[in-house]
Amino acid sequence: MNSDMVNNQPQDVDSQPKTAYEKLNALAHNIWWSWHQEVVRVFQTIDPVLWRNLGHNPIALLKQFTPEEIETRALDLVLHTRIDQAYRRMREYMRSRPLTAQQYTGVLGSKPVAYFSLEFGLHESVPIYSGGLGILAGDHIKSASGLGVPLVAVGLFYDQGYFRQHLDKDGWQREEYVDTKVEYVPLETAVDKDGNNITVQVETTNGPIYARVRKMQVGRVTLYLLDTDLPENSSEDRELTSTLYGGDKRTRIRQEIVSGIGGVRALRALGITPGVYHLNEGHNAFVTLEVIRELMEDNGLTFEDAAREVAQKTVFTTHTPVEAGHDYFSSDLINEHLAPLRQQLGLTHEQLMALGRRNPFDQNEPFCMTILGMKLAHYANAVSSLHGKVTRHMWRDLWPQTPEENIPIGHITNGVHVPSWMAWQMRVLLERHIHGWDEESIDPALWAQVYNIDSGELWETHNALKMILIDFVRTRLTSQLIRLESPHDEIERAKHVLNPNALTIGFGRRFATYKRATLLFQDIDRLARIVNDPARPVQFVFAGKAHPADEPGKRLIREISQIRKDERFADKVIFIENYDINVARHMIQGVDVWLNNPRRPQEASGTSGQKALLNGALNFSVLDGWWAEAYDGTNGFSIGNGTNHIYDVITDQRDQESLMEVLERQVIPMYYDRDKYGLPRTWVQYMKNSIATLAWRFSAHRMVADYVRFAYLPAAGGISAKMPN
Ligand SMILES: *Cc1c(COP(=O)(O)O)cnc(C)c1O
Repeated sequence: MNSDMVNNQPQDVDSQPKTAYEKLNALAHNIWWSWHQEVVRVFQTIDPVLWRNLGHNPIALLKQFTPEEIETRALDLVLHTRIDQAYRRMREYMRSRPLTAQQYTGVLGSKPVAYFSLEFGLHESVPIYSGGLGILAGDHIKSASGLGVPLVAVGLFYDQGYFRQHLDKDGWQREEYVDTKVEYVPLETAVDKDGNNITVQVETTNGPIYARVRKMQVGRVTLYLLDTDLPENSSEDRELTSTLYGGDKRTRIRQEIVSGIGGVRALRALGITPGVYHLNEGHNAFVTLEVIRELMEDNGLTFEDAAREVAQKTVFTTHTPVEAGHDYFSSDLINEHLAPLRQQLGLTHEQLMALGRRNPFDQNEPFCMTILGMKLAHYANAVSSLHGKVTRHMWRDLWPQTPEENIPIGHITNGVHVPSWMAWQMRVLLERHIHGWDEESIDPALWAQVYNIDSGELWETHNALKMILIDFVRTRLTSQLIRLESPHDEIERAKHVLNPNALTIGFGRRFATYKRATLLFQDIDRLARIVNDPARPVQFVFAGKAHPADEPGKRLIREISQIRKDERFADKVIFIENYDINVARHMIQGVDVWLNNPRRPQEASGTSGQKALLNGALNFSVLDGWWAEAYDGTNGFSIGNGTNHIYDVITDQRDQESLMEVLERQVIPMYYDRDKYGLPRTWVQYMKNSIATLAWRFSAHRMVADYVRFAYLPAAGGISAKMPN
């Protein structure tokens, strides 16, 4: 099989779409549309109100019309040329290979990288993600498509996804699970060589779990999604893949055997033989065991030899130093779910357990997926330089003979998919001023030409995006209040919150306690003075979900969302419900400053600040994760000096003081320091510094290129290059 067949379907010329409706439908069935703003705007133009109400879902939109109605609309709105162009561009994209692809296809050949992740954040209309990890996976496969890396992706299809967040009158988070209309998701049934539907089966001690395999096209990358909602399964197992991160440990391990073991079986049924396995987080570490089993069966290898061979082609990325982010399973759960596979591997229960233990001989230790990944993958990495250091320290027990700095865990810093996150207004500006610029470039010299952009124009573009955010916040807040049946005057007031001329600071992230969302509010009187300075006002937009089981996280949401009830903050600190890709996109494109104040060093990388900088926002962040290697004193602001006290309370207090100090002494004065044209010269210079020095470095194209160089090619037996520690 050649790599073309891995990545896209041979096209039948007779089935080529001809009408506008058929072309739009073809566009809607490849997530490629979502990072091409001119295509997004075609869908939006068809019916802007429906487009918004249907959550920017093009399939749902098209289903509201008959093909004839679409033809008429396309005619009335003069859309035919734009539709034809969009369709032609997509077809050319699918047929071509970028220049970069040539260097990969030689080594990876017909054996693609198989990228496994429990969540993929591709677009708000495909709700199979919860947060950062999923978005990163989505950005990774979009960039793999862009660079032409032969790659297939594997995950689960959740028919309810992650919860939607509403706040009640008192600011408590309410979780709502909504059935995804499967017919509105660009899914197709995956079939084998003979055209049969594929069902895979994973045995447990009390019977098999069945999963069907569907697929979704993400540019040139095919994403295979397993789903257990089949009549062959017990009703409990039918719901196994309903919700992301729902249920208990037993749900989780069952999801992970379906995704990991079932995922490998699905690829085999599809006739795909991966050359490299990339495990995005420990969730999918069972992949290694199933590949070992295949090798033992096919080639008659011993477990040890097969394990060595599998390790050689496995890349494992760990994503968090926070304990709760690592899966641990009891001996009983492991036995119930792995005993059949273990017997085929010729291992005793204790031998299997040892693969997931720090101390292989400690019979009380549970089984840790991260440890399995570390032990069975030759290429292990963290997601920023600082996180690499923290990770080597965290897992040093696994290499008792090795000095910590030599532990074989490197790092590849995360990045974001520029075409998905940069506003088109900003893209147009760069295209106009930088000859030969394109958003997929990771050439520092091209990005350095950002300095050629007229400062006034950059500032105006930014302010136009800020106005879009303010409109969005007003609309969202108004409908939140209408739903809560708030008093009429309060609803009227919501329509005018936020001042377009005020310094606007955004904070959007999960409400895990280590992210310290309320750090800003520790000295509430000082903050009140700051935001209410008539000459230099400041305002905040917050958003974020807490995990349903995280009571402390929910209390933080309540605290922030209720601050509006204090008159001093009423129109100035706004909490927007249901942080998702759409809310995130508005926020990172429209704020002046992106605030990030985790307790160091727990933010392994963070990516939202990278999205923000693409649009001219300045980062204001603790020196943690990616920011620790990005901040240079002229491209944003730092909170603290990159040190911790041994006591968290003291660290928190110091960071809080630093946050207020830097805000008052650097951020606010620089923002309001205007020339005679009203332009904040130094601020705009910082915006340019930030884009020029950081956009290419923290892009997913750079990240995927690094994975290719430091992991995929070496793992596939090509060149060897040492990943940076
Ligand atoms: C980018 C993004 C995240 C991750 O942001 P962090 O900086 O890692 O906190 C989470 N959720 C959504 C919706 C995002 O777009």
